[in-house]
Amino acid sequence: MATEADKGPGCAPGVAEYSDAWQDIMIEAAGRLGIDLPRAKARLFARHGRELALWNRKINLTAVSDPVQVACRHFADSVAALKYLRAGGKVLDLGSGGGFPGLPLKIMRPEIDLVLVDGSGKKVNFIKHVIRTLGLDNTRALHARAEEMAADHRWQGHFDHVVCRALGTVVQVASLALPLLAPEGRLLIWKAGRWQEKEADFTPGGDGSRFTIAVGATVLEAVSHPYRLPGGSDSRQIVELMRRKA
Ligand code: SAH
Repeated sequence: MATEADKGPGCAPGVAEYSDAWQDIMIEAAGRLGIDLPRAKARLFARHGRELALWNRKINLTAVSDPVQVACRHFADSVAALKYLRAGGKVLDLGSGGGFPGLPLKIMRPEIDLVLVDGSGKKVNFIKHVIRTLGLDNTRALHARAEEMAADHRWQGHFDHVVCRALGTVVQVASLALPLLAPEGRLLIWKAGRWQEKEADFTPGGDGSRFTIAVGATVLEAVSHPYRLPGGSDSRQIVELMRRKA
């Protein structure tokens, strides 16, 4: 009897597609963002993608089921921030869901010390499973709400970077992330489309890509780094925020 793994390309999304051919697509997608993805890392992405497809049958991890779209919309999009992530350090992925963007960034930069947090226990179980399956070290998944973490003195000021995709508005994410960031820490937020218009307290800077944003009493300086998602023409931005120097 044919199993899921025997089916060829074009079948219902499953696990067979996370093959060498998928890795080739992944390597090409990363290349379009100027990122050199070694085969060994593409293999780890494929393993993550395969587990995502398997677990997504039981728990809602992603609405994206086509493996090529998973390569572009999840993995390539996650690593698009690589050049804004300074070497080493402690990184928090806030509202990580199926492990994005945290796990692909960790695969690319094994030296980072990564914490992934999500308010959904099921999603955290998935992330823990992927961490074990991929054998990632210095990587922890926590089942908590971001608000609880931000109020916990053990985590306050702890992170050199907070990364966050699809959790809320820039101001909402910045209010949650700010207490968790070290004084010189940076927040990276993934955004699509004309997101600025939906934000309050947003002051554009001179060249359109720089602006300031007020979060309570704190003023953050921000730079928006635009890119195009591989496999389509969707325009995206990584918004990089840091406390304004006194
Ligand atoms: N970052 C992932 C998931 C985005 S969906 C991606 O880009 O694919 C948003 C995720 O944030 C969900 O998994 C949800 O459970 C989690 N979440 C929402 N509000 C949260 C909060 N206040 N604290 C922690 N996790 C939260």
